[in-house]
Amino acid sequence: MSLKTEKSRKKSIIRILAAALALVCVLSSLLYSAPKASADEELDDLQQQYDDLEKKIQKNKEELNEVQSEIKDKTKTLNSINSEIDDINSQIGILENRISTLNSDIAGKETNIENIEGEIENINKQIEETNARMEETRSTMQDTRERLMGRIRENYMNGETSTLEILFTSDDLSTYFARMEIMQRVSENDTALIDDLTEKLEQLDEMEKELNEQKTELEGKIVELEEQKVALDERKSDLQSSRATEQSKKSEVTAKKQQVQSIINELDRDSDEYKAEIKRQQAEKEELSRQIDAYIAAHGSSLGDTPNATYENDGKMAWPVKFESYISAGYPSYSDGSPHWGIDICAKGGNSRGRAFNAAQGGEVIIAVNDGNWNYGFGNYCVIDHGDGTQTLYAHSDNIQVSVGQVVKKGQQIGIIGATGNVTGPHLHFEVRVKNADGGVSRVNPLSYVSNPYA
Ligand SMILES: [Zn+2]
Repeated sequence: MSLKTEKSRKKSIIRILAAALALVCVLSSLLYSAPKASADEELDDLQQQYDDLEKKIQKNKEELNEVQSEIKDKTKTLNSINSEIDDINSQIGILENRISTLNSDIAGKETNIENIEGEIENINKQIEETNARMEETRSTMQDTRERLMGRIRENYMNGETSTLEILFTSDDLSTYFARMEIMQRVSENDTALIDDLTEKLEQLDEMEKELNEQKTELEGKIVELEEQKVALDERKSDLQSSRATEQSKKSEVTAKKQQVQSIINELDRDSDEYKAEIKRQQAEKEELSRQIDAYIAAHGSSLGDTPNATYENDGKMAWPVKFESYISAGYPSYSDGSPHWGIDICAKGGNSRGRAFNAAQGGEVIIAVNDGNWNYGFGNYCVIDHGDGTQTLYAHSDNIQVSVGQVVKKGQQIGIIGATGNVTGPHLHFEVRVKNADGGVSRVNPLSYVSNPYA
């Protein structure tokens, strides 16, 4: 009975102990497992957001590239339109020069015609004057002729009588002869006058003929000049119609130019929008990167910490590959100037893929991602904390061969080189991260910690 009681007491103690042990296990699992699980979820979530953003940025960049190549294309079109307009403008310039030359030629002809018309007017006046003088001469001649005829008729009518009368009325013969002579002289004078006038009239007639000849010649010149002017006018109107054709071509091309320009303006606006969107997303990505860095910073050792003895951290990093290699892209930027916070290591001869990479220093794996996703460009990657505030990162692996919490030794194989994430070819992206006094992490030049023994 007492034994049985003893046995049952022992049993109940074991049961209590077992229950207590179970409780401790549950509690400890709650205490240790739960925060770790939520922290990993936090990193996964951050990485997921980062990847999503990266994809969006990539898509925007592709669209931006398309827009920019379209802008380039349209700018080419615009340039060719501009040179077409230049050609048309120089053509118009040539035509305008020709037209202005023709205008001065035509003006010259017009002045010539005006001058000749003035000369003709002058000749007309001279002809008028000549005619007036001829008229005058004719009437003088008429008068003289009439006077002479009158006198002759008088003499005839009176006949001898008159001569006799002169004779009888003359006191003496000498007086008679004198009177006869005067009579005769008067007749002679009239005849001479008529001769003079006839001569003058002939001269005037000659003059008029000459003037008319000159006038005819000048009129001929005017006809010639007017014909020339008509020819010039025709050429001018030809040139003007050519100019009108060029101008309509120009306005057509200018309309096309405006169309292309407005397309370019629209594309520029699109481009600006894409750029702004990319900038905004990149800032967001940087913020996420800071959060991821903060996560890594919060999960590793701090500066001045003494590394766990199991890490066997000897304070001197080893080159992360054990074959002839070279650096294809250095720290802190690519050749195009974009940032690059690590170094890219390739095998000499170009057969990097599938080759092993190793821990640069002993430590504990704090991140190991082997899901084949983008992982903000790293692809499959891992981070080792070396217990002294330094960490190393290995990216683009085809296979990460370690897991979180695993302690690795310096030189130990941790994965194989591949081409996951943001790569153009297989290589190992290697980073060294150092904790700052403020708890943040700096991605420093790996070559300050380790050098390529194969270089
Ligand atoms: Zn890299």
